[in-house]
Amino acid sequence: MLKDWKFSKHYVDSAINSVIGLVEGWIKLYNRGKVKKKPEITKRTVYVKSTLISFRNGVLKVSIEPRKKHLEVDLSKYPWIPKDFDRVGGVLMTENELIITVKKDVEPNAEKWASFDVNLTNLTAFVDGEIKRYDLRQLYHIHRTYEVKGQRIQKLAKYKPKTSKKLLEKYSEREKNRAKNFLHKLTTQIARELKENNCGAILEDLKGIKDNVLNGSKEMNRKLSKWNARTFQFMLEYKLKWLGLDVRYVDPKNSSKTCPLCPGHMVAYEGRLMKCENCILVMDRDIVAVLNLQMWGMGSPKALDELEREGLSRDESSKPLCAPT
Ligand SMILES: [Zn+2]
Repeated sequence: MLKDWKFSKHYVDSAINSVIGLVEGWIKLYNRGKVKKKPEITKRTVYVKSTLISFRNGVLKVSIEPRKKHLEVDLSKYPWIPKDFDRVGGVLMTENELIITVKKDVEPNAEKWASFDVNLTNLTAFVDGEIKRYDLRQLYHIHRTYEVKGQRIQKLAKYKPKTSKKLLEKYSEREKNRAKNFLHKLTTQIARELKENNCGAILEDLKGIKDNVLNGSKEMNRKLSKWNARTFQFMLEYKLKWLGLDVRYVDPKNSSKTCPLCPGHMVAYEGRLMKCENCILVMDRDIVAVLNLQMWGMGSPKALDELEREGLSRDESSKPLCAPT
């Protein structure tokens, strides 16, 4: 691969490593019977090794051709990059983007805790003894808009399979970007609010939740809800940790079916209300959930915490590289 290669040699190294990662990931999925097609590079990206990077006085330099060509970026010109980082972390180059991660050493802790429950159209939080609701209808609307578009394109698929596939990919990318944009604003706002109260966050550990086999719109809603929740958690976690606030994950099993007051069992009552079979409590199911999450989260921290979180961040960071299709 180095024959006639004029660029910095480390890029060849990186390319080999990426492909190994891609194939290893694919083999795992293949052995579990989850893939049929051969692995495929869907996005051309390269990880820039730290030896090719220098960072001085706010300016990042990336070597392209040794001693001939380099890329220079003045990070201070981009207002969304936080100013208070300790060092530059991994750098990824795509065909039209340079993705830079910045790192800060923190030991997150928290005086108090807030718990969160993400649903399709609203987010319920229990912060410092107070129930807060955040409207997610705009987010739901974004997803719905693209769902309708997708259905229209699907009708085209019979006659123009290639065009429709391209269109679907384009729209799915746009949907994700718009949804992420919404969630970025929301999580930034929540992180600020929590910082004022010195509150850490208790979040649902979604790993254990089985994908029920549902059909049609129910299945679609379940998937959306999970995507929203995972993206929300991922964003909130790193924003909180950046501010020095801790995050805990708890098993959310039966969180909306357990009475927060007594050992009783809650059953569906009216609309979103739940009723305890043992005492007199009648309460909105989302509020039952955040109360329980908070109590469970403040009890003994569960040991799965650390492992699960590592798993989540690994999933997220390997996605843009090369997802097996
Ligand atoms: Zn009860």
